[in-house]
Amino acid sequence: MTWLLALVVLAVISWLAFPHVAKVLIRARLKGYWRDANTVDPSAPERLSSPRTVAVVGAGLAGLTAAVTLARKGFTVTVIESNTYLGGKLGSWPVELAPGRTVWASHGFHAFFPNYVNLNRFLDSLGLRRSFTSIGEYVIVGEHDEVRFDDLDNTPALNLLSLAKAGVFPLSDAFKAPGRDLYGLFLEYRHDQTVADFDHVSFAQFDALARTPPKLKLAFNTFARAFFADEDKLSMGELLKSFHFYYLGQDGGLVYDYPTQDYESAFLAPIRAELARHGATIRLSTRVQSLSKTSDGFVLDGERFDQVVMAADVVGARAILGQAQGLPAELTRRFDRLRPGQRYAVLRLWCDKDVRADIPPFVITDRIDVLDAVTAFHRYEVETRADLANHPGFVLELHCYAVPEKLNEREVRDALVAELQVLFPETKGLTISHEVFQLKRDFTAFHVGMYAERPTVETGVPGLVCAGDWVKLPFPAMLMECAAASGLWAANALCREVGVREEPVRSVTLEGALVGTPTPPGRAKLLAMLGKPT
Ligand SMILES: Cc1cc2nc3c(=O)[nH]c(=O)nc-3n(C[C@H](O)[C@H](O)[C@H](O)COP(=O)(O)OP(=O)(O)OC[C@H]3O[C@@H](n4cnc5c(N)ncnc54)[C@H](O)[C@@H]3O)c2cc1C
Repeated sequence: MTWLLALVVLAVISWLAFPHVAKVLIRARLKGYWRDANTVDPSAPERLSSPRTVAVVGAGLAGLTAAVTLARKGFTVTVIESNTYLGGKLGSWPVELAPGRTVWASHGFHAFFPNYVNLNRFLDSLGLRRSFTSIGEYVIVGEHDEVRFDDLDNTPALNLLSLAKAGVFPLSDAFKAPGRDLYGLFLEYRHDQTVADFDHVSFAQFDALARTPPKLKLAFNTFARAFFADEDKLSMGELLKSFHFYYLGQDGGLVYDYPTQDYESAFLAPIRAELARHGATIRLSTRVQSLSKTSDGFVLDGERFDQVVMAADVVGARAILGQAQGLPAELTRRFDRLRPGQRYAVLRLWCDKDVRADIPPFVITDRIDVLDAVTAFHRYEVETRADLANHPGFVLELHCYAVPEKLNEREVRDALVAELQVLFPETKGLTISHEVFQLKRDFTAFHVGMYAERPTVETGVPGLVCAGDWVKLPFPAMLMECAAASGLWAANALCREVGVREEPVRSVTLEGALVGTPTPPGRAKLLAMLGKPT
């Protein structure tokens, strides 16, 4: 009997016989799941005593978290944003569908997971999660099949066993090569060593080696696509980090919350008011073009600031810092190598057919070519429901998180509508009265080989820090939580420079439940097949 078999048998028995004891032991093994990522000095002053000007470039979640945190501490904050609206990928803007009929459009539905501890704390500080509701269950809809992740145990490791119990994979696979030798890696996450070790491997390469059972593969594929990359591009290191962060490092579970209001009402208006209350200036429709370092600060397009938070997306950060004057050459080179990932598409339709009623308002789909998720806005969003009261119909939003390069804009749009009708036959022959279509390439690439080069919050240049979902943090966090946590981390770094008290930052435990256990004998041979970076 191998050590793995012994562990699994022990876990199954203890889970079945003494579930509470198993949970307590796992929680203890993972050090209570959460840790303080920084040390706050309670004797440091809460507010700045002498004026300090800070430019926050980019008003996405990262920039807004940094801006609000710094403005509350007395910094003189100027937020500079190229869009006509705040929020970046969480932004929201008015669209006139017909004379006298204006609705709010956005980049699409967002899931707020319980493990987004820093983001949740930020939103709670503004009372913004009161209008959130729970999705209820996590569902993946395929052409012939559907997977529902309800009644899963949330405890790490036990949640894997409950996936087996739900029929997502046969438990016997845990005892057979190659799964036996490879899947333990998911529970052996070690920040950031694991990401570095597996950054040269794509998820597709790993998956081919592990011969993942079909339903588990479906779950992995859709999870992987949530990082806006196809399987052959997505770094296995980033995926292992994501699994640790979302599933195997804490017990929040897969069921998430979402706002029942449009993003403008749900977040952006209250954040704008908070910034105004603390004297911050917001400049919209202003694209920062240049940055130079001077002896005592920075000049952005001719205007001087003491400190800068670079919270633009990868495209913007590269354009500004890749060409910046007066910074170390290695730093500008690193920014110049930043790249966005594949294109993504969001298509919002006002139409005369609905998807079936037995699914939650947001479902992930097992794409045929393009369709990765469907949202039924008319089921929950207050503003959409008010509009539809006067204009009967339905509002569906279709997402593609990694658009195939071969498709042009029209083909992507048409493929989304066609796939909707295949995966949800009840929408066949739908009539579309209005639509808003976005096809963009400004998302962070979590592609093979990019991790080592990813910039960190601290640039090594006093006064210049970075924030965004593309920034490498000293703990695991992804997407919106990475944006918010890096915004806080950036604000803290600037506070430290002037002796102002930091805000607490929390992070999931840095190591998985099986770190330190013996390596299965077959693993080294299998991993050798994946090669090493040159
Ligand atoms: C369709 C879709 C669905 C998503 N779903 C989820 C989800 O369910 N859960 C989740 O956690 N995450 C999700 N995400 C990801 C999430 O939206 C992002 O991770 C997060 O919002 C990124 O925030 P950010 O501040 O890092 O970047 P951004 O939101 O991109 O903000 C950067 C800002 O910088 C501005 N900018 C760029 N260049 C300049 C310049 N030169 N001058 C001034 N301003 C500039 C941009 O206009 C933008 O406003 C989703 C994203 C999309 C697109």
